[in-house]
Amino acid sequence: MTAFTIYAFILGAVLGSFFNVVGLRVPKGESIISPPSHCPNCGRRLTAGDLIPVVSYFFLRGKCRSCQSKISFIYPFIELLTAGLFAFAYMYSGLNETLIVIWALISLLMIIFVTDIRYRIIPDKLLIFFALLFLVIRLFIPFRPWLDSLLGAGIGFGTLLLIAVISRGNMGGGDIKLFAVLGFVLGVKGVLLAFFFSCLYGSVIGTSALLVGKIKRGQPIPFGPYIVFGTLTSYFYGETLWHWYLQLF
Ligand SMILES: [Zn+2]
Repeated sequence: MTAFTIYAFILGAVLGSFFNVVGLRVPKGESIISPPSHCPNCGRRLTAGDLIPVVSYFFLRGKCRSCQSKISFIYPFIELLTAGLFAFAYMYSGLNETLIVIWALISLLMIIFVTDIRYRIIPDKLLIFFALLFLVIRLFIPFRPWLDSLLGAGIGFGTLLLIAVISRGNMGGGDIKLFAVLGFVLGVKGVLLAFFFSCLYGSVIGTSALLVGKIKRGQPIPFGPYIVFGTLTSYFYGETLWHWYLQLF
């Protein structure tokens, strides 16, 4: 645990707070700068004391200061998750160029986590922004060979498109485009593993939720959160798990 780990954690918490705002506003076509954050119920403008990531939520016991309406648990959840992932990414890669790539990837994943849970969509605007961002990053930081990135994007897109055709629209267009962007970052093997882990988590958790009666059969569930954790598993542990798997034979 170094000072930079703590710095990464705090940066993640602050950015996580911003990703909540982006994820809630961009799908509605609202500005991410104005109006300032306010209670969605009574409209009370939030003060600096209400806006400290994670801390404020627990200090306010999850309720608005003036109207007492409940504040969604999503806010501190995303803040804590982003904080933890930013710190973990630093411990994983150290302080070097790769950290920029991982932090950008985590940022994309956190925002789509919010948009998919809240609105069941992954906005084009976000995907275009991050596609361009990763292209620019790639021009300066050769995080993987161009061919692997381009093939990864094509295979990510193609695989999801195929699933969408087979499942007759159970896979959203946003998911298909998202996998093109993920493929560019993860490469061919990485994007296939991300897809595999997303499906694995989706089926395990989906089946469990069905068994305990949390959801009904045929009820659509957002795939975004599974993609988030599937992608992270692929990025951080893909190689290790792949070698472990090959050794079984
Ligand atoms: Zn309120």
